[in-house]
Amino acid sequence: MINRIYDITIVGGGPVGMFAGFYAGLRNAKVQILESLPEPGGQVQALYPEKKILDVAGFAGVAGAQLINNLKAQLATVPAVEFQANTKVINITRADDSFVITTNQGTSRSKAILLAAGNGSFKPRELRATNAEKYTNQYLFYSLPDLQQVAGQTVMVAGGGDSAVDMALTLQQTAREVILVHRRTEFRGLEHQVEQLQQSSIKLLTPYLIQELMETDAHQLLVQMKQVGGSEQQQATVDRLVVNYGFITNNRELAQWDVQPETEHGKVKVTQELETSEKGIYAVGDQALYPGKDTLIATGFGEVPLAVNAIMNRLYPDRRLPIHSTALPKKGN
Ligand SMILES: Cc1cc2nc3c(=O)[nH]c(=O)nc-3n(C[C@H](O)[C@H](O)[C@H](O)COP(=O)(O)OP(=O)(O)OC[C@H]3O[C@@H](n4cnc5c(N)ncnc54)[C@H](O)[C@@H]3O)c2cc1C
Repeated sequence: MINRIYDITIVGGGPVGMFAGFYAGLRNAKVQILESLPEPGGQVQALYPEKKILDVAGFAGVAGAQLINNLKAQLATVPAVEFQANTKVINITRADDSFVITTNQGTSRSKAILLAAGNGSFKPRELRATNAEKYTNQYLFYSLPDLQQVAGQTVMVAGGGDSAVDMALTLQQTAREVILVHRRTEFRGLEHQVEQLQQSSIKLLTPYLIQELMETDAHQLLVQMKQVGGSEQQQATVDRLVVNYGFITNNRELAQWDVQPETEHGKVKVTQELETSEKGIYAVGDQALYPGKDTLIATGFGEVPLAVNAIMNRLYPDRRLPIHSTALPKKGN
């Protein structure tokens, strides 16, 4: 039986969904945030909690986990907003002028939907090398470890994108030695980060591909590498290998829902007001697509007030308000 009706159901409790929950709480909307993972924070918490994020306004660098803690604290100031973890949205159906949301935990109803599900579920792209599977979670890892765990260690990072560069720079804070191996000679990343990399003492091995992993008698990992486009071999003995080849995302779940907002390459197309092609369903953050979109935390945060205010104007046209937070009501929160 469906006994709960929300104004706004936010699908996804990543950084953007969390901020959307807070902002909708400021507007006194009856809100639920549904998150399939056991804890909030999306990609930031799950994939790079230790990384120092440089491009969130108001922070001169903030660790991923700290940003999520701050968002939790901000969300806690609107306690009427419900955050439901371990709750995966399986289907959304239109029912008269509202929506029925089906999850693995049950069913609820909502007058509007705000999609903030990022790229859907995600998992790291794995290293294809002899014994890679065997040593996964022993010597080989796919996410940035707690920096204290690598104190005094020799760590190899594999990858050449911005997150691999960030990871190598972050690990350098505590590791004894950091080696960055990449199959090309050029690294992709923010110019500032690549410049820092070039000025750092991180040992760069390019263009090399990891071919084989072996455990040494001293319980370290011997990494065997082959030159790309050449015949040279390299090997290095490390305490830990962190592979950062990007992520494989699964956003096909949306295709199973009854409501079908228009998509392009798995992203949901939105109007200037962040509304999808399905009336009453809006999207923000990495999941939302419009011309010129950048998938950044700052971009997603900026979209939130536009989407939430558009939803509230639609649901409660008589409640149009000045939009400064100090002028918004927080009745009952
Ligand atoms: C390694 C790496 C480094 C990055 N560095 C930076 C950086 O320095 N600066 C920056 O601005 N951005 C960075 N980004 C990008 C940034 O993390 C994203 O832009 C941001 O996480 C988007 O937030 P979001 O809330 O839209 O989506 P997400 O963080 O993806 O959160 C979406 C949430 O929705 C949940 N979900 C998905 N499907 C469902 C469902 N059906 N039901 C319920 N819940 C669901 C997911 O579990 C997830 O928790 C980086 C990304 C990566 C991978």
